[in-house]
Amino acid sequence: MIQAKSEQLFSRAQQSIPGGVNSPVRAFKSVGGTPLFMQRAEGAYMYDADGNRYIDYINSWGPMILGHAYAPVVKAIQDKVADSTSFGAPTELEIEMAELIKSMAPNVDLIRMVNSGTEACMSAIRLARGYTGRNKFIKFEGCYHGHADCFLVKAGSGVATFNIQQVPGVTAGVASDTLTCAYNDLDAVKALVAAHKDEIAAIIIEPVAGNMGCILPEPGFLEGLRTLCDAEGMLLIFDEVMTGFRLAPGGAQQRLHIDADLVTYGKVIGAGMPVGAFGGRKEIMQHIAPLGNVYQAGTLSGNPLAMIAGYTLLKELKEQPGLYAALDEKTAYLRQGLDTVLQQWGQPYVINSLGSMLSIHFSEQPVNDFASAAAANNGRFNKFFHAMLCRGVYLPPSAFETWFISNALSTADLDHTIKAVAESLAEIS
Ligand SMILES: *Cc1c(COP(=O)(O)O)cnc(C)c1O
Repeated sequence: MIQAKSEQLFSRAQQSIPGGVNSPVRAFKSVGGTPLFMQRAEGAYMYDADGNRYIDYINSWGPMILGHAYAPVVKAIQDKVADSTSFGAPTELEIEMAELIKSMAPNVDLIRMVNSGTEACMSAIRLARGYTGRNKFIKFEGCYHGHADCFLVKAGSGVATFNIQQVPGVTAGVASDTLTCAYNDLDAVKALVAAHKDEIAAIIIEPVAGNMGCILPEPGFLEGLRTLCDAEGMLLIFDEVMTGFRLAPGGAQQRLHIDADLVTYGKVIGAGMPVGAFGGRKEIMQHIAPLGNVYQAGTLSGNPLAMIAGYTLLKELKEQPGLYAALDEKTAYLRQGLDTVLQQWGQPYVINSLGSMLSIHFSEQPVNDFASAAAANNGRFNKFFHAMLCRGVYLPPSAFETWFISNALSTADLDHTIKAVAESLAEIS
């Protein structure tokens, strides 16, 4: 496969963009090699600058749940753009977007639009602090809630991929208000809460973790957090930036039957445009300005092009009832195919999946927290990644990321992927 243009573009990019990329995990730094520069994408396929085609399992890190350049979304943006790209004043479309989200997501009376998942999570933490009058919060090792200072403590995603233990620029003062526990360790959370009685505003969690590979909550874990939050006056914040509108129309709250006090969205909610949101019950959300004094704002928040893109996608997700079952079936088909070839290969592996999220860890032990994800043979994953890329399958370039299954994938695409896995395993072992 010739990737000469990507190589040229990457050396040019490094002259004017830090590391040649505008977000670190794109750089292929941990898997090695040159990141591919993309030209266009349609359905399940991306085409790089050299014209090579790849079956895409990143899907823009989530938004493209129905595939790239989804026709109704493209048309909606085209129809809207001539009316101006931004007003800085309210529009009816923002009400329609809020009403649509409320009709899909549980426990959302009020919802504020922002421009990224990072903004959504940092605003939710500020609100939880303002609402409870407490400063500290608990996050889990290997969970990623965006790049706001307070979250860059034992974070997942690129922070884990690049093994950054302590992020320069995050002050000790900020970091000391972020308490961390191992995912799935309810006893550790209870001990932490007991040690910081009446100091903790919230627990924020990815209800299904996707930033250390895919890791599922063990039975009782989220229920235990819910009970603890109720008993201790803390808010339970579900970071559904990845799981929202993906695991079900109402996200992980609906799929796992747990109620959150605040919920954050990103990724799917914007259909690939820069959108995030945070919402929750009225008695909490009414503390946000201009209703209350917890200040939060954005020049481009609720941007009309971003809103029409997200609105159009969410409406499709709401109105196609068989869609989530179809995604589950595709994931199950892929998982079974992967299981077969991995078993034939005969080396240790773990597949974790739920809904349209899946990951493979080359691990002998179950992978249920960051320590077990990190203990896997991730050097082997890096070789596997390149062997798959050579066969036209674009996986996330790190074992600490989740594969996203889109509804645009055909059975033939899944079969191609399974065959590529069999060939790649034979090549790397
Ligand atoms: C991607 C992600 C974020 C950050 O969203 P950005 O839009 O990249 O700022 C936050 N939380 C989770 C769970 C994510 O997966």
